[in-house]
Amino acid sequence: MAASSSSLASHISHNFAGLRRGGGSKGEPSSASSPSTNALFFDRAASRLRVASSSRRPPRGVVAMAGSGKFFVGGNWKCNGTKDSISKLVSDLNGATLENDVDVVVAPPFVYIDQVKSSLTDRVEISGQNAWVGKGGAFTGEISAEQLIDVGCKWVILGHSERRHIIGEDNEFIGKKAAYALSQNLKVIACIGEKLEEREAGKTFEVCFQQLKAFADSISSWTDVVIAYEPVWAIGTGKVATPLQAQEVHVAVRDWLKKNISPEVASATRIIYGGSVNGSNCAELAKQEDIDGFLVGGASLKGPEFATIVNSVTSKKIAA
Ligand code: PEP
Repeated sequence: MAASSSSLASHISHNFAGLRRGGGSKGEPSSASSPSTNALFFDRAASRLRVASSSRRPPRGVVAMAGSGKFFVGGNWKCNGTKDSISKLVSDLNGATLENDVDVVVAPPFVYIDQVKSSLTDRVEISGQNAWVGKGGAFTGEISAEQLIDVGCKWVILGHSERRHIIGEDNEFIGKKAAYALSQNLKVIACIGEKLEEREAGKTFEVCFQQLKAFADSISSWTDVVIAYEPVWAIGTGKVATPLQAQEVHVAVRDWLKKNISPEVASATRIIYGGSVNGSNCAELAKQEDIDGFLVGGASLKGPEFATIVNSVTSKKIAA
């Protein structure tokens, strides 16, 4: 059910009162999200408000970049692959030309991390797809942050929607996981995102902010955190968010960081988009000012396509 027009309007005007800048928002909402008429109207109104009230110039002379962090692309291989297919993928990545100005990370299944670590170029860092909430011990089936560090991981993905909604991890548990991983010097890709019914009910910001708050309540520094906005309805469905839909949430997330953490953290924290990103749609998404990179599932299993997504950073520069 859609939120009432007045409550949604007040919610939007409240939430868009912070960072403002120009340019960027293009594209029409896709039928995939099926937002209610009211939600769609106010989504668009909020976007226009932001464009109209622009004054701030972006840093680094790059028009399409509102934050100050380096472009970041992560590949989440999920529960896919065999020794042979991963050997081929690594070989393709080793042979790919990757733009310099991008942090590139891949997250293989745990059992293949060692294989990947010993064969993949150091240009690409390695992430776990999950980690236990504390120090290792009698937790059958779990992998600890210390173990991820031990096998060469620099990163861990936490709060992925498949962990939240299939395995049942809640906000507080995920926040604690993030705090523990950071305490062990493991950097965190912190995932947030709304389900389709939450978007249709006009609760996209509310859900994302609750998930963000749970991270904020547990961690003391955002230096080693990348936020991945991944609308659940777009993950693995082929129904990518439009550049407009993604940018609206990204700017709201940056705004939330500004108000609730600090302007410095809002500027420095990478906010990446995930959900059916591929070699064909990445360039238009990358042009959005608050999209600082991508978390990629399916398309990260194809080396050349993943390289294309990494190299979509060039469309940000061209937009300058
Ligand atoms: C993901 O799993 O984080 C993801 C974004 O998947 P996909 O790109 O396949 O939608």
